[in-house]
Amino acid sequence: MSTRTAFDTRLKKKEAPPVMMRGYGILEVNKPGWLEKPRPVAGPLDAIVRPTIVAPCSSDTHVSHGGSGPKTNLILGHEAVGIVEEVGELVTKFAPGDKVVVPCVTPDWLSMGTQAGKSTAHDHHLMGSFKFLSQKDGVFAEYFHVNQADANLVHMPDDVSPEAALMTVDMMSTGFHGAELAEIGYGDTVVVIGIGPVGLMAVAGAQLRGAGRIIGIGTRPNCVKIAREYGATDIVSYKEGDIVEQIKDLTGGGADKVIIAGGDAETFRQAVDMTKEMGVVSNINFFDLSHVLSMPAWSWGLGMANKDIRGGFCPGGALRIQKLLEVIRHGRLDPTRIISHKFHGFEKMEEAFDLMDKKAPDLIKPIVYMDAQ
Ligand code: NDP
Ligand code: ZN
Repeated sequence: MSTRTAFDTRLKKKEAPPVMMRGYGILEVNKPGWLEKPRPVAGPLDAIVRPTIVAPCSSDTHVSHGGSGPKTNLILGHEAVGIVEEVGELVTKFAPGDKVVVPCVTPDWLSMGTQAGKSTAHDHHLMGSFKFLSQKDGVFAEYFHVNQADANLVHMPDDVSPEAALMTVDMMSTGFHGAELAEIGYGDTVVVIGIGPVGLMAVAGAQLRGAGRIIGIGTRPNCVKIAREYGATDIVSYKEGDIVEQIKDLTGGGADKVIIAGGDAETFRQAVDMTKEMGVVSNINFFDLSHVLSMPAWSWGLGMANKDIRGGFCPGGALRIQKLLEVIRHGRLDPTRIISHKFHGFEKMEEAFDLMDKKAPDLIKPIVYMDAQ
């Protein structure tokens, strides 16, 4: 009996050998590197996608440094376009070989959090719809898994370049969310604190929503140039004096709307301070677990200023990305201007990630083509 059990176990193992694949991620906190992991398998509603272009993001570097808690043996990446490799038996809209755009936030559409309707970002818990990096391996891999493919994948349009489509999945989605949360109206005076790739998309979003004056805060020369191209009317340097004083001087008292897309805990206090009474502070910056957000009561108008403080994670799913693709298709915005570096070949992932991590002075957004040509 015992011999037979051992024999059966051997047979079973032989029948299902794990198919392994390469990925780039974190071996342990502060130690990025190459990983070998089993290739993911699609459930009935899911898809397996082979990435064709991926982009490292500041959020990947935050996670690699333990900013959202210690993580190990995790493939990074959440920004990708690719080709469907495999679909579950209940998927109806996609088939192997389809070119797809993959939202970085892929909610469980059956969850109560999603049904609650306020945001699609928090399906089962805080940022629960952000599956890559937090609940499973990410997209810097030969293959990756997408839950509920029919609701979370988008067919790549013929008239949008893959590079532009890649910029919708997080950069446009998050930057525009800053403009949405701020409820920018015609003629509003808007400050965007931080004009890295996320802030630049917030500048573009503010412009599209009809802002009047748009003041960008940042210093990297190529970011400053593109901020102006996307609609910034003024640029302020946080390295040349207190930004609250600079903004109050420029605006004669404060801004209607302030979007936080960079900086640290002190930036939060400054954002509230530079917002006028009845204004809105809209945060899309990722604060670390180590940050403490605090401010003197006066910053918030003694609690009497009707100054809203909002913060949100970018919405997820297919419809969101389809809408952003429409903005590009009809010539309202070219998000590829934020792409500063292009790498060819998966091997270059390491270099691209390191560049993102160290924030080279000429860096805005790097992308990596999985193929070497
Ligand atoms: P970058 O690091 O490229 O840009 C940060 C910007 O903030 C730069 O313009 C920088 O200026 C500026 N900055 C830095 N320090 C200060 C300061 N003390 N005061 C004012 N401005 C300052 O970041 P990204 O654009 O890639 O990302 C921005 C944030 O958005 C990150 O925290 C990221 O994690 C978060 N994020 C959030 C997402 C979400 O859904 N909520 C998704 C994706 C990203 P300089 O020109 O000098 O470098
Ligand atoms: Zn990202």
